[in-house]
Amino acid sequence: QPITLTQFLSQSALRFGDRPALTFMGFSITYIALTDLVNRFAQSLTDLGVQHGDRVAIMLPNMPQTVVANYAILRMGAVTVMVNPLYTIPELTYQLNDAGVETLIVLDTLVDKAKAVWPHTPLKRLIVCHSNDLIPVPSESLPAGAYRPVETGNAVFSYRELQEFHPIGQPFADQSEWNGLATLMYTGGTTGQSKGVILTHATMSSNIQLVRADWNEVWQDGQERLAAIFPMFHVGGYIGMQLLSLSYGATLILIPRPEPDTLMRLLEIDKPTVLAAVPTIYVGLLNHPNWANLDLSFIKIMATAAAPMAASIYPLLVEKCPEARLVEVWGMTELSGFATCTPLATEKVKLGSVGLPLPGCDVKIVDITTGLTALPDGQAGEICFRGPQVMLGYWNKAEATADVVREGWLYSGDIGYVDEDGWLYIVDRKKDLVIAGGYNVYPREIDDVLVSHPAILEACCIGVPDAYRGETVKAFIVCKPYKSLEADEVITYCRERLAAYKLPRQIEFVTEIPKSVVGKILRREVRRLAMLQPA
Ligand code: ATP
Ligand code: MG
Repeated sequence: QPITLTQFLSQSALRFGDRPALTFMGFSITYIALTDLVNRFAQSLTDLGVQHGDRVAIMLPNMPQTVVANYAILRMGAVTVMVNPLYTIPELTYQLNDAGVETLIVLDTLVDKAKAVWPHTPLKRLIVCHSNDLIPVPSESLPAGAYRPVETGNAVFSYRELQEFHPIGQPFADQSEWNGLATLMYTGGTTGQSKGVILTHATMSSNIQLVRADWNEVWQDGQERLAAIFPMFHVGGYIGMQLLSLSYGATLILIPRPEPDTLMRLLEIDKPTVLAAVPTIYVGLLNHPNWANLDLSFIKIMATAAAPMAASIYPLLVEKCPEARLVEVWGMTELSGFATCTPLATEKVKLGSVGLPLPGCDVKIVDITTGLTALPDGQAGEICFRGPQVMLGYWNKAEATADVVREGWLYSGDIGYVDEDGWLYIVDRKKDLVIAGGYNVYPREIDDVLVSHPAILEACCIGVPDAYRGETVKAFIVCKPYKSLEADEVITYCRERLAAYKLPRQIEFVTEIPKSVVGKILRREVRRLAMLQPA
């Protein structure tokens, strides 16, 4: 149904007005209050001169203002650009220029960074947000008549003043359009520089509607509690958590920093019914000293997404939460978040599979090099996806768009295969493929074997130059606390489980493996570090 994202929020406010839409550090905001904050902030943005179609950037951690600002921008028909608050000055400059951002909503502690990039970008105004801006405290007297910039001679405004300027109950007409541009979502930056992905209300709203339909057996509107573990500047947090939650009357539990201790507290106190995270977060939880004592019987859906989960992890989660449905999601920014997931309508579980395409969507597997022939079941190739959630294209990158969107199909750059029941399995990314002695080696498969070893916490394999084989596999390994291993033991362990051509022939023990802010292993960074070392 053509319901825009903001219309979805209004619908939730009608159906579940008094239920908490958001909780943050012990206080909550009901659906009615959230809608009111959104309307008032949208009016203030309009007063400032922000127009339909303008890109407005949000550089905040997961906090209520992130959600208010996003829905206000969408409601006025403008375009949200989510920015990673940890970005360095060059990264921020690139993104603001790329997206053509004139208005930036930024956390107080990041203002210096924003000011540093200002002269090198189209920025016209900053809106500064303090983390306690929305906590109900007696309000100070508000300026009469006009906004006063908080700094003289500078277009720097206070979020709080803008938010409180218009009285409670201020109406604001929804200007969102079904086919209108809604969000420029930047890709994870795992394989290179992040690209801006053009998403509309139609692509994102269709997607959450498909997920909702797929989860119908378990999900109850107005009942669920979602933990926002993914950051909102990533598609997982933005669509998979924020949009899904607020469209169907759930409570979104906002956590600014998903550290294991914080998450343990969240699980104990907030008792989310839907938990979704990258595999590395689960690994962190499983290795936390309090994990064994936790009662997690309230979890209905436990989802893993965004990066490969090692086969040895599933049974540990199933054992801990036997009642929960373990859902694996495969998705991409280019696909408005979700593409396939473990179907909840069937009791059948195939651990290791990312499930079936969402209802009405299609997957085909094509030859990796030619991209042409569709391959038979069981044979690995590039995964192509077709459905209403395919992006309009990359922002300002017509060539890159033409490369990946062809006749309605999105060429994902991921390698996978489909079994006889149509369930999809992810093998690896095309870009990570290693060719050793003429054989295709998928580093992820070796990572998986390594982390199944009881002394290994994390592993990352890459291809390194080899005079004899062209390339050979090198493994970087992090041992579990108080455990150690010899390279020989690792190779012996692998030899029992992998064909000879896949064996890691070089082993290096490290204390840490570089990861993206979302928690994905950065293989390109590991490759770069390996290149810097003497052979
Ligand atoms: P960039 O495109 O900038 O290099 P990225 O591909 O990590 O970064 P995202 O859109 O956040 O950006 O992530 C999509 C990718 O994440 C997919 O193409 C896939 O490689 C990986 N991925 C997502 N879900 C899964 C999953 N369940 N299992 C394995 N890999 C996954
Ligand atoms: Mg990608």
